[in-house]
Amino acid sequence: MAECQIVDAIVFSIPMRTRFRGIDVREGVLLRGAAGWGEWSPFWDYDDAESLPWLAAAREAAEVGWPAPVRSSVPVNVTVPAVGPEQAAQIVLASAGCRTAKVKVAEPGQTEAHDLARVEAVRDALGPSGRVRVDANGGWDVDTAVRMVRLLDRVGLEYVEQPCRTVEELAAVRRRVDVPIAADESIRRAEDPLRVARLAAADIAVLKVQPLGGVAACLRIAQQIGLPVVVSSALESSVGIAAGIALAAALPELPYACGLATLALLDGDVTSNPFVVVDGALAVSRPVPDRASSVTADENTVRRWHERLQAVRTVDDPRST
Ligand SMILES: [Mg+2]
Repeated sequence: MAECQIVDAIVFSIPMRTRFRGIDVREGVLLRGAAGWGEWSPFWDYDDAESLPWLAAAREAAEVGWPAPVRSSVPVNVTVPAVGPEQAAQIVLASAGCRTAKVKVAEPGQTEAHDLARVEAVRDALGPSGRVRVDANGGWDVDTAVRMVRLLDRVGLEYVEQPCRTVEELAAVRRRVDVPIAADESIRRAEDPLRVARLAAADIAVLKVQPLGGVAACLRIAQQIGLPVVVSSALESSVGIAAGIALAAALPELPYACGLATLALLDGDVTSNPFVVVDGALAVSRPVPDRASSVTADENTVRRWHERLQAVRTVDDPRST
C-alpha cells in the first residue's frame, strides 16, 4: 500500500447486544479517501494475509466507489442468534416487517431440541407465508446434517446455509436432502470460491463484500459461479453495510432476501444516520460517519488496530513501512 490515498481513519468499538460468532464487541477502522468512507473490520481470527481482501474492499469504497444500482431498495432477513424460543419469537416480531428469518443452529453446547424449539418459534412468529432459513456455520457432520435438515424442515425451510465445513460434505448433504443448500464459509474462506459450483455442492451462493475483496470482486464471482446470490454482512457498522447494499443493488437478479439487517445485533453505530429496516427492506444509501455519534474506541484498541492495519499493509506491499 505504498500509494496510500487514505486521508482519514477512525477506529470504532461497538458492543454487541447478544454474543454472536463468539464476540461481544465489534471493532474496526473507517478509512476515508476521495470516493468516501470504507470499513475495514476483519475479525481477529483472520490473520494478516486473510485480512488483505478486507482491506481491498475498504480501499475500493474509499478510493474507487461502486457500480450504479439497478434497484433502490434491498429486501433483508431478520437474523435470530442461538437464543431461546421466546426471545427468538420476540426478535422476529420486532423486525420491522421482515418476511424472511435466518436462524442460527448447531451452536456448540446446545442440543438438537434447542434448534427445533427455536426454529418452530420463529415459524410461529413469522406465519405460514414467511420464509425460514437456517445457518449451521459448518457445525454438523454429513449424517447429522441430513438428519437435522429433515427434522427442521418440519416447519418448511427456504434453505440451509453451510451445514458442514467442507465443500465435499456440502455436496454429500445436497445429494441426500431436498432442502436447497447455501454455501457461505465454503466461498469466503476458500482458495477457490468457484469450487462449490464445480462440485455441485450448493444451490445458492452467500457473498460477503469484505472477505471477498470488494463489490466489483463479488460481482465477478456472482457472474462466474452461476448461482443465485444472497448478500450478507460481516456484522459491519452502517459504513460497511453500505458496501453490501451497493452489491445487492447492483446484482442483475436478487431472488432472496439479503443478510444485511445485522445492525440490530449492535448496540450503537458510527453515524447518526444509520440504515433502518422499513417494511423488511433497506433503502440504498451511503451513510457518513460523524464523530459526535461514532462509537470511539479506547486508546489501547486504537493502537492495536493501527498496528494491525500497518501489518496488513506490509503483507500487501513489503516496501511499505
Ligand atoms: Mg453464514
